[in-house]
Amino acid sequence: MVAEQLEARGITETAVLQAMNTVPREKFIADTYEAHAYVDGPLPIGEKQTISQPYIVALMIELLELQPGSIVLEIGTGSGYAAAVLSRIAAQVITIERHEKLVWSAQERLMALGYDNIIVMQGDGTLGCDDFAPYDGIIVAAGGPTVPVPLKEQLKIGGKLVIPIGSNQRKQQLYQVNRRDAYQFNEKRKGPVSFVPLIGQAGWQE
Ligand code: SAH
Repeated sequence: MVAEQLEARGITETAVLQAMNTVPREKFIADTYEAHAYVDGPLPIGEKQTISQPYIVALMIELLELQPGSIVLEIGTGSGYAAAVLSRIAAQVITIERHEKLVWSAQERLMALGYDNIIVMQGDGTLGCDDFAPYDGIIVAAGGPTVPVPLKEQLKIGGKLVIPIGSNQRKQQLYQVNRRDAYQFNEKRKGPVSFVPLIGQAGWQE
């Protein structure tokens, strides 16, 4: 997976490749799909949600440009897979999921696997989480119509926010937002992606 799906497509950051190599993807999906754990695409995880394609997870984490010791906020815990990968690079990961069932299963799974620097919370991630802000990086694993303002406000100066944005609920452009100072943000488009919708106050209506 690392050589054929990630390195071959231009993922170069050693910390990201190592983290992707370490986290057992098969432990984050239902037994029925275990044989497909390393396929080059997303897989269903219940509640009409998916675990993202490995390449997209690696690309988004690389775009966060994390330094050692960083604190990261993830929106859309899903299976907990991306949080586990992030936890191998960041010092602390806060992850928010709106579906209660997914919160419990991710929390249980991450604990069982020994990932102890991840806090899983239930709620509307479009509002972020003020308790641990500001963040070095914020990663959103669902697509919204616009960049949620609360997430921009909770980003450190110099921090990166990576989020799929699009007027279509299933097709987006991946954005890397860089906070330059208190008021200025730079946005770069990093290519077309397809995520499940980001549903919440600063996202799509239910
Ligand atoms: N990172 C996950 C994939 C997540 S799929 C993994 O590695 O498995 C996107 C997730 O975002 C879904 O579980 C969906 O329920 C969740 N989601 C959508 N809108 C949300 C919101 N406003 N707050 C928190 N989670 C949200």
